[in-house]
Amino acid sequence: MGVICLSCEIVSGRKEVTGGPLCETDHFHAHQDVAYPVPGLVIVASRRHIKSFVEMDGGEAQEFLPLIQKIRRAQSAVGIDSVYYFYNEDTKHHFNFWMVPRYPWMARFGKSIEAVRPALIHARDHMASADEISFVAQMAARLRRILVDN
Ligand SMILES: [Zn+2]
Repeated sequence: MGVICLSCEIVSGRKEVTGGPLCETDHFHAHQDVAYPVPGLVIVASRRHIKSFVEMDGGEAQEFLPLIQKIRRAQSAVGIDSVYYFYNEDTKHHFNFWMVPRYPWMARFGKSIEAVRPALIHARDHMASADEISFVAQMAARLRRILVDN
């Protein structure tokens, strides 16, 4: 049996994401991260099972940056002041571009990028009550409404 790619499952709609898809385009699928319940943590996954920027075709490359700008503006509209961006190529999943909000509560884990990993783990382990997940889903719904309107 082949290994199932979680990202392929999500972009195809076979696996549900918290709050539902935020934005779907010809080449990308944006959604709330499924592992870390940080409100407004958006993952932009390619529809194709590619690993990196260099594998993007012309259509993907052309669509990508305007989509990231649009999502970032939506994050601003819901009060997210700063965002960290990253993606990794040494992954079992396919191309996932992370847009991780910086929140004041993350300060206890350090400044800037050093806080990201511990903050994500803290969210996963200690911020996953029903109320907190509901808030994450509400944030996803707000982002989706803004993205649909713009
Ligand atoms: Zn895949």
